[in-house]
Amino acid sequence: VIEIKNLHKSFGQLEVLKGVDITAHRGDVVSLIGSSGSGKSTLLRCCNLLEDSQEGEILFKGEPVRWTGSGLNRRPADPKQVLRIRTNLSMVFQQFNLWAHMTILQNVMEAPVTVLGRDRAEVEDSARRYLDKVGIGDKCDNYPAQLSGGQQQRAAIARALCMEPEALLFDEPTSALDPELEQEVIKVIKDLAAEGRTMIIVTHDMKMAADISSHVVFLHQGLIEEEGAPEDIFTAPESQRLQGFLSATM
Ligand code: ATP
Ligand code: MG
Repeated sequence: VIEIKNLHKSFGQLEVLKGVDITAHRGDVVSLIGSSGSGKSTLLRCCNLLEDSQEGEILFKGEPVRWTGSGLNRRPADPKQVLRIRTNLSMVFQQFNLWAHMTILQNVMEAPVTVLGRDRAEVEDSARRYLDKVGIGDKCDNYPAQLSGGQQQRAAIARALCMEPEALLFDEPTSALDPELEQEVIKVIKDLAAEGRTMIIVTHDMKMAADISSHVVFLHQGLIEEEGAPEDIFTAPESQRLQGFLSATM
C-alpha cells in the first residue's frame, strides 16, 4: 500500500530523516520504534504528505507522488493526489484532536461527509457501526470533554475508520493515557490487526509492538538502525543501540 524509498527530510539546517526505506504491504502491521527525536513522527507525517520531503520517493498503491520544486522547496505537484493519498492513510494522533464543539457522532461523520462528499445517512450508519465496534456506541451524543481519555482515543480511531482508508497511521496512540485506559485502546488496535488492516504504528509500547507487528523498524537519528520480524528484533537484537534501547524500555 505504501512504499517509501530513500526519504530525506530536513527542517531548515536540521536533517531529520537521512535516507529511509519503508514498505507496508496490504495487511502488514509495521511498528516504528526508537528514542525521542529519532524521526518517527516525522516519518509517519511524510507518509501521508503532512510533511514535505527533500529527496526520495513515496508510492501509494504503486503510484508515485509527483513533486514540483527541489530541495527545501520540493512539494507535491498535485493537490488532488495529496487529498487522495491523505484520505486513504488515516492518522490517529497522540492527542486525539477531536473537535470540542461537535458530538462524538458528528466528529466521526465530519470528514466523510465534507471531504469525501458521501451521503450523510450512509455515513451516519457506518459511523454508528464503527463507534459500536470500538465500544462507545452509547456515547454518540456526548461531547469529547464528557469522555475519558481512552474513550476519546477510541472515538478518534472510529473517526479514522469511517474514512474507509487503505491504511491507518498511529502516532503513539496510547501515550497520553493512564495505564488502565491504555489497555482498552490497545485492545481495539489488536482487533484491527487481527482483521488484517494495514497499519503503521509509532509506539513506545514494546509489548504491543511484539504482539501485533509483522515488521518492526528501529530508527536512530534519522536512519534505520535495524529492522526485522518482531521475534528477531525483540529476542535477538543485533545492534548495540537497539539492545540498549530495548533494555531501557522493556
Ligand atoms: P518522540 O518520540 O519524542 O515523539 P520522534 O522520533 O517522533 O520523537 P520527531 O518528532 O520526528 O521525533 O522529531 C525528529 C526531530 O525533528 C527532532 O529533533 C525535532 O526537534 C525535529 N522537528 C520535528 N518537527 C519539527 C518542526 N516542525 N520544525 C523543526 N524541527 C522539527
Ligand atoms: Mg513523535
